[in-house]
Amino acid sequence: MSLSFHYAGSPAHIVFGEGASQNVANWIEKIGCRRALVLSTPQQKGDAEALAATIGPLAVGIFSGAVMHTPVNVTEAAMKMVSESRADCVVSLGGGSTTGLGKAIAYRTDLPQIVIPTTYAGSEVTPILGQTEDGRKTTIKGAKILPEVVIYDASLTIGLPVALSMTSGLNAMAHAVEALYAQDRNPISTLMAIEGLRAFRSALPEILLKPSDLEARAGGLYGAWLCGTVLGTVGMALHHKICHTLGGTFDTPHAETHAIMLPHTAAFNSVAVPELLKPVAEIFGSAVGGGLWDFARSVGAPLALRDIGLTEADLDKASQIAVDNPYWNPRPIDGPSIRALLQDAWEGRRPQ
Ligand code: NAD
Repeated sequence: MSLSFHYAGSPAHIVFGEGASQNVANWIEKIGCRRALVLSTPQQKGDAEALAATIGPLAVGIFSGAVMHTPVNVTEAAMKMVSESRADCVVSLGGGSTTGLGKAIAYRTDLPQIVIPTTYAGSEVTPILGQTEDGRKTTIKGAKILPEVVIYDASLTIGLPVALSMTSGLNAMAHAVEALYAQDRNPISTLMAIEGLRAFRSALPEILLKPSDLEARAGGLYGAWLCGTVLGTVGMALHHKICHTLGGTFDTPHAETHAIMLPHTAAFNSVAVPELLKPVAEIFGSAVGGGLWDFARSVGAPLALRDIGLTEADLDKASQIAVDNPYWNPRPIDGPSIRALLQDAWEGRRPQ
């Protein structure tokens, strides 16, 4: 067998364990810091206060204004607090929105980040920052953006609502599915993607049944780490482009959009790369798209774009934007086929 690939492992410290977030103070010291600013959304302010209490004197403040899509004006308000508190690191407690704020601060200051993820979005292990200004979302990639320490503690994810747990898991699975056919994939990214899909295949139904089962919650975080890591290391294609378009232009909710689109984009691409997507068929059912759709339905995830605020009239514009600015995809794309794919996703039809 002839093998030729480039593999670059992430330099981040990855810590797994129930109760591991109790040791944040040790990690702050280990990375040479003494003044941590704790970040959260308004909804998780209480959890951020509890975390700051365990950090003790090394926590110099809490900024609880993180919101979806990292608006620059929120980052500027947080930056003011960074400088007033003379923070020398940030501790981000939450999902992709809070992690995004920590990354935006690190991008501007190079402060180290400790992230404690409480959803399965996977942003904590990518060097990617998406931020919005005047309604436009831009994406930046760079070493400064990648968090230094990630602490996965299942006990902090028990409160993640079940519906969001399911869509967040499906969002992460989309990273893994696209990693399987990425042009720059390597044997390690493929191993991680398959293991990530397997982790969610077993964790999501268990979380649905018993949301406070710590083992099931840990399984979700394990899947999030694997799927997030491949998102950070290989290129994404059609699926992420369409979801970026829908979220950016029509403001559809992030995780739900990914959850609805995944069976459709996977079915579309499986025609071109059936061998590469065979693991998906093996894990979720005999047909790639149909298997993923059945799984999403079985965990109660939304299945139709019309249920998350998109109108049928939006579909023409969405497919136009999705085919503008050509990008690589394993199957060539064209306006009419993307329009048909969006129609199916809008109606919630099961793909083959
Ligand atoms: P989120 O961070 O917006 O969280 C959704 C809501 O759930 C928030 O109100 C949050 O406070 C709450 N929540 C989170 N965890 C909770 C818990 N354990 N208990 C109770 N409530 C909890 O949602 P998300 O899907 O994790 O992140 C979406 C954002 O992340 C988007 O802006 C997306 O673009 C970004 N993202 C970025 C990357 C990247 O690599 N840059 C990757 C994935 C997602």
